[in-house]
Amino acid sequence: MQNNEGMLVLFSGPSGVGKDTVLDIILDKDERLQRSVSLTTREKRCGEVDGEDYYFVTKDEFHTMIQNGQVLEYAQYGENIYGTPKAPVDKWLKEGKTVILKIEVKGAQKIREIYPDAVSIFLMPPSMKVLEERIRIRGTEDEADIERRLEIAKNEVMRSADYDFVVVNDNLETASNNVLGIIKALNFTYKRMNKKISEVIENV
Ligand code: 5GP
Repeated sequence: MQNNEGMLVLFSGPSGVGKDTVLDIILDKDERLQRSVSLTTREKRCGEVDGEDYYFVTKDEFHTMIQNGQVLEYAQYGENIYGTPKAPVDKWLKEGKTVILKIEVKGAQKIREIYPDAVSIFLMPPSMKVLEERIRIRGTEDEADIERRLEIAKNEVMRSADYDFVVVNDNLETASNNVLGIIKALNFTYKRMNKKISEVIENV
């Protein structure tokens, strides 16, 4: 038996490491998981759908939302801004969902300050060489953007020490199972089972 309180999971890792693919796999396997759709000012990639992969907005629209208090956190990444819409996250947490934020390292740090109970998972590439190959094979960025992403990736890998869990993505199925296993286990920490334990103890 799990408790009904929502949980926030921060899911980070360098560009190209496979965060979206892992997320797609685990979301299919567990209906309690809710993926937060972020705002971004970057161009839509081929195959991406507005409202599913991201909300694609202009810089002006983004700044208006920030001023109106509609953005939980945001961060500059390369040339663009990315951020988490606030209202849906609050709603899902109230509903008891496990909300997963795909987020870069600075945004994750801001969320930890707002929600100290948030749990963080870092998806690590097997090596920087493999990461570079994956970004190049994906073929969605030009050379300048690839170089920028690899530079950011080095810094992000160093920041993995800030995370509660680190999963290496050398095999998609194993990595997905490991991420899902961590999330499932988190439902059974003493802190999250406290209410249930008190009920049992009251009736001893
Ligand atoms: P991409 O352009 O590859 O989709 O994403 C670039 C980076 O932005 C990734 O590291 C991704 O995790 C991060 N990102 C995506 N959504 C958000 C968000 O809502 N907030 C923050 N801070 N970073 C995000």
